[in-house]
Amino acid sequence: MPKEKAKKLIIIGVDGAIPEFVRKFLDEGILPNISKLVKNGVFSELLPAAYADTPTNWTTIATGAWPGTHGINSFGFHIEGEPFDKVYNMANNLFPITANVNTEHFMNRLCKAEYIWQAAEKIGKRVILVNWPGGWPANIKHGLIVDGTGPHSSPVCRMSNEERFSTGPQRDLRRQTNTIAIHEARAWKNLPYSTRPLLETRFDLTGQVQVTYEEEYDAQKHNSSLFYWILIAATDDTGYNKILVCKDKDAAKAIATLGVGEESKWIQEEFSPTIGERIYANMVVRQQFKARIVGKFKLSLLKLSSQGKDIVLERTGIFASEGWAYPSEIAHELTDELLKRRKRKSSRRHVDKLISEKSPLCQVYESVKDMAEGLSFTCKYLTQKYPWDILFTQIHAPDGLNHDELNHLCPESPTYDPEKVEAAWQKFRDTYRIIDSFVGDIVRSCADENSLVVVLSDHGGIPTKKRVALEVFFRRNGVLQFKQNERGRLVIDLSKSRVVLGINYVTHNIWVNLKGRDPSGIVEPEQYEAVKSRIIDTLYRIRDPETGECPISLAVRKEHAKELGHWGDRMGDVLYFFKEGYSNKFTDTITGIDPKDLPEDGFELVLEGPEFGRHHSFLPNTTYCGCSIKGSFIMSGPGVRKGYKKPFPIGAVDVTPIVCYLSSIPYPGQCEGMIPGDVLEPVSGEGTK
Ligand SMILES: [Zn+2]
Repeated sequence: MPKEKAKKLIIIGVDGAIPEFVRKFLDEGILPNISKLVKNGVFSELLPAAYADTPTNWTTIATGAWPGTHGINSFGFHIEGEPFDKVYNMANNLFPITANVNTEHFMNRLCKAEYIWQAAEKIGKRVILVNWPGGWPANIKHGLIVDGTGPHSSPVCRMSNEERFSTGPQRDLRRQTNTIAIHEARAWKNLPYSTRPLLETRFDLTGQVQVTYEEEYDAQKHNSSLFYWILIAATDDTGYNKILVCKDKDAAKAIATLGVGEESKWIQEEFSPTIGERIYANMVVRQQFKARIVGKFKLSLLKLSSQGKDIVLERTGIFASEGWAYPSEIAHELTDELLKRRKRKSSRRHVDKLISEKSPLCQVYESVKDMAEGLSFTCKYLTQKYPWDILFTQIHAPDGLNHDELNHLCPESPTYDPEKVEAAWQKFRDTYRIIDSFVGDIVRSCADENSLVVVLSDHGGIPTKKRVALEVFFRRNGVLQFKQNERGRLVIDLSKSRVVLGINYVTHNIWVNLKGRDPSGIVEPEQYEAVKSRIIDTLYRIRDPETGECPISLAVRKEHAKELGHWGDRMGDVLYFFKEGYSNKFTDTITGIDPKDLPEDGFELVLEGPEFGRHHSFLPNTTYCGCSIKGSFIMSGPGVRKGYKKPFPIGAVDVTPIVCYLSSIPYPGQCEGMIPGDVLEPVSGEGTK
């Protein structure tokens, strides 16, 4: 037993950190904070649970259970016996861009195992979860939870950045300035006392149009509810000195009265995602959804000339009031704190840059630097203000970079260009540097010598050279049949297909369309085994027409997949894994495939994104081109062996038992992992002979 148990537990998730890259950058000396943890503790590779993807592995890491037990075995799953078009898709809530807008299925509601934070709460430990996949919505009573990185940058809560409204040009490059014009007040009700003739102006809250008085405001084109009137008054002999902010031309209903230098209270407004790109500048994705979101902002009067000719008004960012923090007061506190610190790092230019350079993968609506700063801000505020024992936080990097850039490092990739290699390495260096200083920031502000600190990734990533459309081969041997839908797309014909595959988000599972079990079933139960054999045979007979290589590394029947961590009613009848270099071509046989997207011979070169680098398709121990699917694991603190490079990887399923043991947390109810004894500090002394 360790002499001292850790008093605090800090787990920092770094999505997609590849162990080979961590080692390389440690050797280069560019990760000083992670290096300190490694010197004082353990460095190991982490063997993900299959499939080596994000939902599966953050869930495995936080429950200590295998996917067969916790039930989260991919980005989505189909439950045996339900119609094949019913898919439980968690992709939408995994990256909290669309949280509370379009989430069909929350991952933690579908998870069948107890999470470590739920077990910890049972003995009164106080938990803080910040951006932890599966942490939202709250499934504990007393902890503090933030979905996304917080108001500093998270697209969940920061709906718009700051804007200025001014009669003249403003030389503040950090903020967008919108031109407004001043005119004599007309047709107002309940006018206030003024020593000079009352003046008026108006502005569009979103700043999406430069409102000049001459141009008639087109309420059809823009959302008129986001349109505010300003009445300018002179309450004494010094000249114009006050403004009244009103929704209608009724001064009695002013929502704010401001003098120069004054800031309003929070003003709430309901926003529709359809109002255009500007208001959702950093979360364009939301445009496709119908939901309305309540946001809040403050207005400040920065300048008002005594003659009433010049005015400068500033609006803070617009922040979603709820739906991203538990308890909900935390959302208000964090937003207030952010404004107090006046760290307005986001600017219009910054957001435009983000959009123009954004990764093909939609989760990257914050830059890595934004995420790191946002997470630091949120974690620091919560840990300094509230008592706590356990902190979980996750940065979703470098995963996006793996998907975008890994192929630039691999000579076997069809887009490889030796001249681009160094630039790609530089991107990785920059990202790992940001991650390292984020780790340092959290350790400095939250940890002491009694804290157990774990930095780990859920999986790595490897480059790809070819994609395979498996449907081509199953169609060719007649077990899969398509029909064309009204849009000319190929959808699976369940009345004729003996095999079902290619269900979107449900990766690498193939079903027998079984009579008596599946509503669309056509295969007689006595044919079940034979069809499974045929599926496996079909997979193993596939050959790359160029090289003669089979792109499948393993195909197994469901009953043989238990040792891979898979069982139960959420998996297919056959599971398969790709050989390194190959991966699946994403198709959706339920909503339809464009016939042009099915290559005749089933193979295509990976010439464009998204997803050059991949992780979900492979056996968890796959390596290729100097990268691996394995994750990284670093741990330091009381009871942890010092300076130990573990030769055999730690299992994702073993993380919970290790940290529970070292910090006196009860093992969660379905915890199945084991503690590798070699990571523990050896007990010294003579002992009994
Ligand atoms: Zn991941």
